[in-house]
Amino acid sequence: MQTPPIFDGHNDVLCRLFEQGKASNTQDFLTGDDGHIDVPKAQAGGFAGGFFAVFVPSQGEFSGILEKMQESQYDLPLPPIVPLSDAKKIALSQIETLRQLQNEGSLTICTDVDTILRCITSGEIAAILHMEGAEAIDPDFVALDQFYEAGLRSLGPVWSRPTLYGEGVPFRFPSSPDTGGGLTDIGKQLVQKCNEMRILVDTSHISEAGFWDIAAITDAPIVATHSNVHAISPHSRNLTDKQLEAIAESGGVVGLNFATALIREDGRMVDDVPVSSMVRHLDHMLGILGEDGVALGSDFDGAVVPNSIRDASGLGELRQAMIDADFGNPLIEKICYRNWMSVLRKTWPQ
Ligand code: ZN
Repeated sequence: MQTPPIFDGHNDVLCRLFEQGKASNTQDFLTGDDGHIDVPKAQAGGFAGGFFAVFVPSQGEFSGILEKMQESQYDLPLPPIVPLSDAKKIALSQIETLRQLQNEGSLTICTDVDTILRCITSGEIAAILHMEGAEAIDPDFVALDQFYEAGLRSLGPVWSRPTLYGEGVPFRFPSSPDTGGGLTDIGKQLVQKCNEMRILVDTSHISEAGFWDIAAITDAPIVATHSNVHAISPHSRNLTDKQLEAIAESGGVVGLNFATALIREDGRMVDDVPVSSMVRHLDHMLGILGEDGVALGSDFDGAVVPNSIRDASGLGELRQAMIDADFGNPLIEKICYRNWMSVLRKTWPQ
């Protein structure tokens, strides 16, 4: 396997399999399929594992967002709230898919750092069960306990959609991330509950007001699993320098998102992006977050990624770009996986 291994802050494999109708027919993942991540591509590119998102897609006119983001300006409306019962059904189905992948020998669901490191050494894909948007969780948090039992250790309260808990940013370019309301009272309780259970709280997708609410409440390092630099690409989904400073102060981590709309200065979701543009975001993040605060969060299977990388098999291009930028091996190791391990150790119970 290529080294250093890459542990990744975000992928949408589970949603891809769900949308392709392969939720219960996952054999192709082991032998190779048409997505960004499968076992052969992971081995080829040194993809060691990461956060596997359970995500309930919006339907109808609110689907197909990647195409709508190809323009040089866009302002996609927020999709409506997804009802709890619909969301729970889909979330359970995607968790079942993750379990099946584990049963088939494609990956291992990990709930502690030592197991992740053991998987990295043995070459098994290490998967963290993450939930992107808390639509499947009832306001009494009964489902949160059930999902925890199933292995959930990371939760983003919102995707780019309103929920009971708060509101995500609409996909809008150019735009500040200050697009809507903060956490609701029950959203604040959810963050406290996650703190108590030592579930990582992810701030990617949340409105700036919601970000500051989380920053004020949480007792864990602040994490954005897959977001980029607003000062370079002024997208609603990216983080301002002030937000990056707050993450740095908390000892948190930001995962570089490979979604081209969040990398490009013009916000277009087209694949023509040199790897040097990704390094530019890393450089800016390093300037604020320091060497311990920068990681990767590909958004594989959920976004258009640079044609120079293509999929998980092309991760060597990014390693090479970091070498070419004189990052040096200790820093490259931190960005590739060590910083995720450190922040997980600080967040999860030991
Ligand atoms: Zn996302």
